Formats: sequence, C-alpha cells, structure tokens
Amino acid sequence: MDILDDLESEVRYYCRRWPAVFAQAQGSYLCDEHGTRYLDFFTGAGSLNYGHNPPLLIEAIIAYLRDNGVLNSLDMTTTAKRQFMLAFKSIILEPRTLNYRMQFVGPTGTDAVEAALRLARKVTGRARVVSVSGGYHGMTLRSEQVSSPSGSRHLQRRSDVTFVPHEMDASLPDLAFDALQEAFSDAGTGVAALIIETVQGEGGVRVSSDQYLRFAQKMCRSHNALLIVDDIQAGCGRTGTFFSFESSGIKPDIVCMSKSLSGAGLPLSMLLINPAMDQWEPGEHTGTFRGNNLAFVAGRVALEHWWSGGGPTGRTDTLSAAFLNGLTEIAESCDWLGSPRGKGFMLGLPCPDAPTADLVLAAAFNHGLLVETCGRGEIVKLMPPLTVTEAELAQALDILRLALAEVCGKRTSGRLMPNSP
Ligand code: PLP
Repeated sequence: MDILDDLESEVRYYCRRWPAVFAQAQGSYLCDEHGTRYLDFFTGAGSLNYGHNPPLLIEAIIAYLRDNGVLNSLDMTTTAKRQFMLAFKSIILEPRTLNYRMQFVGPTGTDAVEAALRLARKVTGRARVVSVSGGYHGMTLRSEQVSSPSGSRHLQRRSDVTFVPHEMDASLPDLAFDALQEAFSDAGTGVAALIIETVQGEGGVRVSSDQYLRFAQKMCRSHNALLIVDDIQAGCGRTGTFFSFESSGIKPDIVCMSKSLSGAGLPLSMLLINPAMDQWEPGEHTGTFRGNNLAFVAGRVALEHWWSGGGPTGRTDTLSAAFLNGLTEIAESCDWLGSPRGKGFMLGLPCPDAPTADLVLAAAFNHGLLVETCGRGEIVKLMPPLTVTEAELAQALDILRLALAEVCGKRTSGRLMPNSP
C-alpha cells in the first residue's frame, strides 16, 4: 500500500475508506489480495446493478474481443452500437410508450449532464437552470454549478442557477411546491430547464414525491422549459423500475443515463432526448470517447437478460421491502439511528452525524461489508446489487448489527470524534 500512498494524488478517496487492495470480484463480492471477501453494498456508486462480472456479460465481451470487434469508433456506426440501440428501443422504450432519440456522450455521467444543460440552453435560448438543493450532478463546470450542498432551506441564486429546496429541506411540504413555482415566475429572462434526481444519491438518499415530480413537469411545460431527469444513479432498475420516474408518470424531455447502463461497470453515458428537442447541428457536441463498443455489447446483453419480459422490478420490490424492514428493526433498537429511507435498493440509514456514520462504515468494512456515506456524511448508503440473494441481505444485516453494536460502545464511552453531539 505504501507505494500507492506515495504515488497517488492526495485527492484519492475511496481507497482511504476501504484500505484493502482488491484483486477479484464476482456477483455481490469483492475479494482482496489476501483472499478476504467483502460483501459490496457500494456497487461502484451504482455502476454495478447486476453485480460484479456477470458471467453472461463477460462471455459476450470476450467473444466480441476474440472476433476482432471494433473497439474505438467515436460515433461511427458499429454493429455493437446498432444492436444496443435496437435492444434499448424494443426492451425499454417501446413497452413504456416512450419516444426518445439517443445521444451518446463522453464516457462519464457528468458528460451527460453537461450535454443536457447545453442542449436545454440552446433549445430555449435561455440560460437559467433550476436545480434542487442537495442534488449532485458531477464535477465538470456546468454539472458542478447545478450541484448543491444539501440542507439549503431558501432559494439560492448562483450565476445562472436557481436552487429550490428539496421537499425534505422545506419546513412544510407545500413550501417546496411554492418555492418551485416562485423560481419559475421570478426568473426574469425565463428558465431553460429544471434538473432533478428523483432520488438524490450523493445528497443523502432523499426521495422526491411523485406529486412533486408531476408538479415539476407542469411548471416546465407551462413555462416552455425542459424537464431534465438525472437518472445516472437512480436509473437502470436501482429504485425498482428501469427509470426511477416511472411511478410518477412523468415524461422528461431529457433523461441522463450512465453508471449501470453497460451492466458490467464499463463507462457508457447517454442522453434520451424528446425528438422535438433534438436540435443539435451535426457535430455540435462532440468528443472522442462517445459510445464504448464493449459497453454496448455488455449493455445489450444486460437488457436482453434482465429486462425483457418485465425485468427484475417485482424481485427488487420484494427483497428491498424485506431488507428495509430489517433495517427498520435495527434502527428501532438503537436510539441514535433515524428511520431508514429510500426507494428500491437505494437505501439510507441516518446517523446523528458524519463522524458516527464514518465509524459505522469502518466497522462494517472490518466485518466484511462495503457501505458508503452520503448527504452531509451522516447517512449510511446501502446499494446492494439488484442480483443480491436473500442470504446476502441477511448477512449484511448481521454485519450491520455487529458494526452498530461496536459504534454504540464507542459513542457511550465518549470515544467519538469531535463535533459530535
Ligand atoms: N449525476 C448523478 C445523479 C450522480 O450520482 C453522479 C455520480 O455519482 C453523476 C451525475 C456524475 O457521474 P460521473 O461521476 O460518472 O461523472
């Protein structure tokens, strides 16, 4: 580890959270160089919804490589791309009566958000974007501008961005609706787009109600602004349905997708665009790594295997409800834990503060479970792969009980880090 500590930039993060050298991975488990297995409920921040190295996807990738399949093609047409698009259309879009154009952008989620914001500003000729407090959309310039720390209770204005309070930040539920209305009516030169995560991932596993999503769509429609749903973390089945917004019935103008789109953890990002808004000129938004053929191959197999014939929604709903019950029992037996929350397999367990959540993370790691924190660092985020088994969920609950018992001991013995209550 020393050489890595010496050579890798100070910015390194996850390797500090989980100080192991991981060598292999399969299904719900990561394995370090010494053969220690870890149950992975971090899943690449939502990039591994079907677990690590799903055998079918790996076989398809190997076959493509053996067959001299094209690897780098910018946005030229390849067989791999065409097959992915056909599968996405027939398995995902058509059964949901959704009509979208697909734009393949640079490989990361933030590339998709950048392109979405740029397109919304071009289509409307306006600059202002409305975003929700606590949202996270990426680290490049436009994406960072529409990301905000959670907990902002009031309208904030930042250059061309207006932040409205998330329903969980508004002192009364109605105030979030009022603030959204105000943001649109006060916008002067008008609003280009509203960008929203239906379940905030990094922001603390905070769910927007279906009613709020429908109101957001109504505001956008009545002000000729675009509704952009950032489904980068909550999409691809994470909340149960393929798209996280399905229960609300909304039809966003643009959907940003990435993370689990390839099914194998390979980089692939895409915008789904309402055809009327697809007003790009040819080559107007480019980049070298748009579309990733290996990811197209794996992504197509993932769609065919998991999503044709209805998909794993019912299984996710059943297993996640049972897991949430288990978490609730744990929370009820520990007076400093809040009520667990979330949707599908995107779940959060509120601790009183970030230092306590960090202790839970470290204790869980020591017992063989990877979980991350989010929000202001006080929420333990649990995102098992959708392919997780009942036995693995039970194992995770056992580990959490052990970890929390240890942290309880530390809290009562006053060994908690400073600034805890
Ligand atoms: N949008 C959401 C909702 C995310 O959760 C993330 C990353 O966690 C991003 C955008 C940025 O994606 P990337 O890290 O691939 O740039």
